[in-house]
Parts: sequence; C-alpha cells; structure tokens
Amino acid sequence: MDCLFCSIISGEIPSSKVYEDDLIYVFKDIDPQAPVHLLIIPKLHIDSLDEVEEEHRELLSHILLKVKDLAKEFNLEKGYRLVANTKEEGGQSVAHLHFHLLGGRSMQWPPG
Ligand code: AMP
Ligand code: ZN
Repeated sequence: MDCLFCSIISGEIPSSKVYEDDLIYVFKDIDPQAPVHLLIIPKLHIDSLDEVEEEHRELLSHILLKVKDLAKEFNLEKGYRLVANTKEEGGQSVAHLHFHLLGGRSMQWPPG
C-alpha cells in the first residue's frame, strides 16, 4: 500500500522523530501550525478515526496516555490541543490515522 506515514514509519521517507515504541511513532509536522506541532501515529495502518474498531482499544489508550508525557517534554505546561482531522470534511489530507499535538501559543475557537 502506498501510504506516506507508513513510509515515514519504515524510514523510507525521512522525518524528525520525537518518540517511538512498539505501537506508535511521533514526529514533527513538516508544516508546523504552532511552535510545537507533533504528529502521533499508530504503526498499524488505520485510515482514520472512522475506521477504528474494538480491537484497537489498547492502541488508542496508549496514544492518549502518551500525550501528557509529550506535552511535558515540550514544555506545554500552559496547555495544548489534540486534533484528529477525520475524512474529507474534517480536513484530513493523509489517510493514516494521526493526532496533531499543537502547543506553544494560544489556540482559537471555533477552529476553521
Ligand atoms: P491532516 O491534514 O490532518 O491529514 O494532517 C496531515 C499532516 O501531515 C499535515 O499537517 C502535514 O503538514 C503533515 N505532513 C505531510 N507530509 C509530511 C512529512 N513528510 N513529514 C511530516 N509531516 C508531514
Ligand atoms: Zn499508513
């Protein structure tokens, strides 16, 4: 399968890696929208949040439980935002489940 983020996980396409374990890979977004802009992705290819199943429960928990560690590492004690753009109207451009961790500036609401 031709997937940009699978190619990043395999090392075929270079990335600025921040963290990696058996289940997930974290790297810096190539087009940062905030002083800190990380992408947290599962190593398992899942198209989007709309395709997650019961069998992914542990993986999803693992991702969410990693967020505060990353926030601490990047000094986001004032706060941050976690975003999962999902499918066309959600603004998803890469069809491999990913969570944006954004911080280092005040966020606006509502998002565009
Ligand atoms: P989304 O639009 O929510 O699907 O997010 C995809 C994100 O991937 C965007 O923020 C892009 O800037 C980012 N992106 C695309 N290609 C790369 C790359 N080669 N390395 C790092 N981030 C990338
Ligand atoms: Zn993939």
